[in-house]
Amino acid sequence: MYKRGHLGIAMLTLAPITFRLVTAGYPAFAALVAGTVLYLSMLPDVDHRLPLVSHRGPTHSLLFAAVVGGVFAGAASLVGPALSVPVPGDVSMVAFGFLLGFGTVVAHLLGDVITPMGVNFLWPYPKRWSLSITPADSAPWNWGLFALGVFALAGAVVLAVRGAPI
Ligand SMILES: [Zn+2]
Repeated sequence: MYKRGHLGIAMLTLAPITFRLVTAGYPAFAALVAGTVLYLSMLPDVDHRLPLVSHRGPTHSLLFAAVVGGVFAGAASLVGPALSVPVPGDVSMVAFGFLLGFGTVVAHLLGDVITPMGVNFLWPYPKRWSLSITPADSAPWNWGLFALGVFALAGAVVLAVRGAPI
């Protein structure tokens, strides 16, 4: 999947999370989460630029997602207490950091598993999974997912701000 499609899936994933955080009274934290996820939505494709790393290999796996989650958890434990934005008090920053990093990578993998090339989720175990729904360069799919994502995320923000009944 191309960047536009990945951003779309990231926004679809973010929509319910953003809704929950904004309705709970944490709009700044919601924006921080959304910004982080969108900024890093293409992180696994760093393998295009890494020598000796095959495309859709190690960086397109649950193991990589867990590593990124671990880095996020570590960063959250350091930065969390110093954050000036109000964050939900009942959420452990370390757990939330892990889920944020893990989820960011998994959202990317979902965008790639629908293409014929598929994803090697259990790398280094050599098996690829593919739903083979659309080629990665499909303009209708990339634009469609992007438009759906924008619609879902914008809708979530509007509903949350207007105080829609849950
Ligand atoms: Zn990818």
